[in-house]
Amino acid sequence: MFNLVIFGAPGSGKGTQSEKLIAQYGLTHISTGEVLRAEIAAGTELGKIADSYISKGQLIPDDLMVDILASEVDRLRPQSTGFIFDGFPRTIPQAEALKKMLEERGEEVHSVIGLEVADEELIERLIKRGAMSGRADDNVETINNRLKVYHSTTSPLRDYYQKEGKYQAIEGTGHVDEIFSKISGAIDKHPAAPKK
Ligand code: AMP
Repeated sequence: MFNLVIFGAPGSGKGTQSEKLIAQYGLTHISTGEVLRAEIAAGTELGKIADSYISKGQLIPDDLMVDILASEVDRLRPQSTGFIFDGFPRTIPQAEALKKMLEERGEEVHSVIGLEVADEELIERLIKRGAMSGRADDNVETINNRLKVYHSTTSPLRDYYQKEGKYQAIEGTGHVDEIFSKISGAIDKHPAAPKK
């Protein structure tokens, strides 16, 4: 297996680049945000809890998120050659839980691709996305809160994965295809890189 974390602030292009990664490498995509939005749309108990955090731009508590991720990994693992984790981990305890969970399954995170984009551009992109997709958390107040949470709680993961020698910074501005070719260049250098 080849397991990749696609990391970056909201609006940095994780979803867009994940689609290209799936097409090129056949990896299995797990977006925790998408899992939560599906629960909200289905009106489940979990969806109700998730909505109370998402609508304020806050993070869902770690214990709950880790359980959700573990059940997605176990559900999808039999038919997978590796995962793209998109939107997880978002906190140091989540990164530690991911490490433990993968170790228990004889697996590891091989690489962390960090999409780096300036805040002004992120805000512009998220406002545009909100107008097009109607995503409830892409409004100015929630966007500001999500960026605050990103800087205070999620961005320390950059250091965490840098210390593990796994972090690869990618400039996340410019044309989508150019960004993707930088990402695939970084992945292809890895000794465990998946075949195209
Ligand atoms: P995303 O689609 O990744 O931008 O996620 C949308 C929202 O879902 C986030 O703003 C959080 O409220 C929630 N969420 C998604 N993933 C996580 C996570 N790993 N930990 C906590 N909350 C999350």
